[in-house]
Amino acid sequence: MVYTRYVWTPAARPSVAVAGTEDRFAVRRIFCVGRNYADHVREMGGDPKADPPIFFTKPADAIVASGSVVRYPPQTADLHFEAELVVALKSGGTDIEQDQALSHVYGYAVGNDLTRRDLQHAARAKGLPWDMSKAFDASAQIGAITPAERFTPGAQSIWLQVNGQQRQRSQLTEMIWSVPEIIALLSGFVALQPGDLIYTGTPDGVGPLQRGDQVRVGIDGLDELEFRIAE
Ligand code: MN
Repeated sequence: MVYTRYVWTPAARPSVAVAGTEDRFAVRRIFCVGRNYADHVREMGGDPKADPPIFFTKPADAIVASGSVVRYPPQTADLHFEAELVVALKSGGTDIEQDQALSHVYGYAVGNDLTRRDLQHAARAKGLPWDMSKAFDASAQIGAITPAERFTPGAQSIWLQVNGQQRQRSQLTEMIWSVPEIIALLSGFVALQPGDLIYTGTPDGVGPLQRGDQVRVGIDGLDELEFRIAE
């Protein structure tokens, strides 16, 4: 038997629960769309139709399962929630046509794109990378994935509550770039592969989280996501 003799033991591959089963969805990469709801782009001071979507990434091991306690990350005083629809791919490719895009989708989940907003604003003002504002440890909360046979993005509500108070509420129809458009555009930059997750952007209402806050995020028809910021 041939095996690779690593000089240290690699960590287990990050994975996400599949709703209603014992199966796990193995994560390869995490892609994110930076501006994708007209209302959120306006609250951030932009014009929704002016530019193509911004893509950025998080490391696969930034994944955090629903039910977790997340420590308040260092180097920020303005940690923000961002409720998002997450697309999970079972196949991929390059230059995927829009009309073929949904054939690559394994399923959908509720996600939260945790953001160090102060670092993001500072980076944006100086034209610097977003990595330390977006791609930090435990920055990608995600609920269980529902297979695409049981969910099609449409007029579903997307919402987020902090300590029982509603902070975000919109509809998936408010997305500037649809799921097929996102997959087609992103596959023009990188080869998408099975295991890729795409966080598709957040509606307006983003705001800060404090130590001890309890967060619930939902999209009609998908398993709810909940997590707590540690004291
Ligand atoms: Mn986001």
